[in-house]
Amino acid sequence: MTVDLLPYDDRDGFIWLDGALIPWRDARLHVLSHGLHYASTVFEGERVYGGHIFRSRAHSERLHESARLMGFAIPYSVDALEDAKQEVLRANGLKDAYLRPVAWRGAEMMGVSAQQSRIHVAIAAWYWGDYFGDGSAMTGIRMKTGRYRRPGPECAPVHAKATGLYMICTLNKHEVEAEGYHDALMLDSRGFVAEGSGANIFLVQDGKLHTPTPESFLNGITRQAVIGLAEKRQITVVERSILPEDFADTTEVFVTGTAAELTPVAEIDNYRFTPGNITRVLREDFRAITTTG
Ligand code: PMP
Repeated sequence: MTVDLLPYDDRDGFIWLDGALIPWRDARLHVLSHGLHYASTVFEGERVYGGHIFRSRAHSERLHESARLMGFAIPYSVDALEDAKQEVLRANGLKDAYLRPVAWRGAEMMGVSAQQSRIHVAIAAWYWGDYFGDGSAMTGIRMKTGRYRRPGPECAPVHAKATGLYMICTLNKHEVEAEGYHDALMLDSRGFVAEGSGANIFLVQDGKLHTPTPESFLNGITRQAVIGLAEKRQITVVERSILPEDFADTTEVFVTGTAAELTPVAEIDNYRFTPGNITRVLREDFRAITTTG
C-alpha cells in the first residue's frame, strides 16, 4: 500500500471556501466548530477524468440531499456548486483529479443543539490515483468482514453521505488493514452483506449480477452507473438481501465507488474469487463512460 506523505493541510494550490478561492493552507476552521464535535458534516467525493467531472450534477444534488437529511440547507444552489467545482479545477490546473466538497455546521453554537449555526462549504481537489494503489485493481483486493455493522435506516439517516457514519468504516478498515487486508466488508445491522468501507459491492452468480438492496447504505452513483452498463450488456441485475454464505456460490466479486472505481475482489474471509469476464467487461465499459458520463 502506498502512503501519500504530503499532508493535506500543507500543499500549494487553492481551495474554495464559503464562496471564494483562497490559498490552500489558509482553508481552516475553528476547533469549536459543531461539525467537528457532533459530526454535523456532509461531503462528496467525485472523480474528474480528462477535465470531465463524472456525474457532476448527481454529486451536487446528493450533497444537497445529504444536508437536508441532516437537517440543514447548503447555502449555495446546485448550479453555484457546479460553477465552483469548475473554478477549483481551473485554479489548480487539474484535469484528472478527485474533488471533495464538504459542508458543516460552524462555531456559532456549542452543544448537541445548534440550529442557528452557520453552514460552511468548502471544495478541494487533488490528484488521486488508484484507491487501493498496489496493483490490486487488476488482481483483486483482499477483504475481511469488519467487527462493526452498519446502522439500519431506523438508527440513522443512512442515505446521507455524512461523516458520522464513517466512524464505523474507519474502525473496521483500520482493524483489517492491520491484518494485511485492503478493506473491510460491512454487514448491515441484520447480518446481511452491505458494502465495503467506502464502496458498494457486486457478486456474480450463474452469470447474473447480484447486489444488496441499498436499504442501509448509499445507493452509490458508481453503483447506479454500473447497473446501467450491465443492463446495456443484457446482464441480469438482481437486487436482493445477500447473506455472507452466498459468497460460496459466487464466482466473481467487485466493489464500486468514486474513489475505488470498479475494483475486483479476490478474497473475502475464507472465500476466494477470480476476476472474470463480467468484471472485465464492466470495468472496460465503465472506463469508457468516465469521460462522457
Ligand atoms: N458506500 C460508501 C460508504 C461510500 O463511502 C461510497 C463512496 N462515496 C460508496 C458507497 C459509493 O458511492 P459513489 O459511487 O457515489 O462514490
